[in-house]
Amino acid sequence: MKTTTRRRGYGTWHVQRFRRGVLARDSWCAVCGQGRAVYADHWPKTARQLVTDGQDPNDPKHGRGLCRQCRQTTRGVTRW
Ligand SMILES: [Zn+2]
Repeated sequence: MKTTTRRRGYGTWHVQRFRRGVLARDSWCAVCGQGRAVYADHWPKTARQLVTDGQDPNDPKHGRGLCRQCRQTTRGVTRW
């Protein structure tokens, strides 16, 4: 396990930027289409995979909106 100093700055604003961007675009749940999207989920890649691939995990285009119920059933997909 390596420690990369430049990568350790996961602050609140990162999450806000991602979450707000995703929810602004996806008003409704991307899975069931019936519930209001209240959670921003990294999909189809996890935040870690995006970082590994050299992509920005905080870019809303890498996420989808989920309703409360679907968020619970897909828990474990997002690793923050
Ligand atoms: Zn749903």
